[in-house]
Amino acid sequence: MNDLVIEAESLVKRYGAFPAVDGISFTVRENECFGVLGPNGAGKSTTIKMVACSSPVSAGSLRVAGLDVRTHAREVKRRLGLVPQEDNLDEDLPVRKNLEVYARYYGLSARVAGPRIDEVLELFQLTEKAGAKIDDLSGGMKRRLVIARALVHEPSILVLDEPTTGLDPQARHLVWQKLRLLKTRGVTMLLTTHYMDEAAHLCDRLVIMHRGKVLCEGNPHALIAEHAGERVLELRLSPEELVSLLSEVRNIPGVAVEEVEDIVYVFGAGPTAERIALAVGNPSRAFLRPGNLEDVFLRLTGRGLLD
Ligand code: ADP
Repeated sequence: MNDLVIEAESLVKRYGAFPAVDGISFTVRENECFGVLGPNGAGKSTTIKMVACSSPVSAGSLRVAGLDVRTHAREVKRRLGLVPQEDNLDEDLPVRKNLEVYARYYGLSARVAGPRIDEVLELFQLTEKAGAKIDDLSGGMKRRLVIARALVHEPSILVLDEPTTGLDPQARHLVWQKLRLLKTRGVTMLLTTHYMDEAAHLCDRLVIMHRGKVLCEGNPHALIAEHAGERVLELRLSPEELVSLLSEVRNIPGVAVEEVEDIVYVFGAGPTAERIALAVGNPSRAFLRPGNLEDVFLRLTGRGLLD
């Protein structure tokens, strides 16, 4: 059985001559949370827009639920719930009315939509706000309402463009919790984020994009193990101290060193990293910490001080 819900192959989007998405391939499986990560301008939103059939594909192929987005946009849209970056709610309508209008847009009768709206309001802890004005909602509530709205027509795939950008930590955690809950209910999710920790929290698999291309694809833990290693040494030292440390680590097989502004990151130095951290004896100058997805990005895009 083919459980591939989204299949992108050599997918390209050009704006004029500029390739915002430059020949990327990835697949999303049923009931998976799949992340598209990368810095601003990487091509994440453009990718999402093609999946959501709101921006035409320039070249390559893209299938959603087995359907070609070029020829079956209407059917694809019906299967998708879309959570855009901005909270594009109707400020003139109260919370529940926003959902009712959306349900009508998808052709749901009031009899079908009613219980469905009750359910998503409850799921997103908004039942008590059903009559509230949009203006009176907090940022986190607005975000939850936009996600609830995307679920009114019971899509099997939820597409989220930076679902927690601009939220405070508590509101972010609540959104994460709701997304994990949706996953247990069988929803497949495709999400973009520039928060690497968000991806580590939510995603079963992900791609990291940079300048329209996919740098790597895989499970977050496997990507960290492969590209960053278990532990990373962060150094904030004087140039003189650095020179002597770099000469110390240079000959360790597999070691890599990257510099970003005033911080130097040492990957794969094993027990030597531990020894250096101990010798410096000040975590604000030499800090040994677990590897993360940001390190993966840095390793794959950096130039490397030892090269
Ligand atoms: P991300 O979501 O990763 O921040 P985008 O997909 O929004 O990146 O943008 C990728 C690149 O495409 C950027 O360089 C951006 O300036 C460019 N771009 C996005 N939308 C348009 C557009 N409508 N017209 C021209 N260039 C665009």
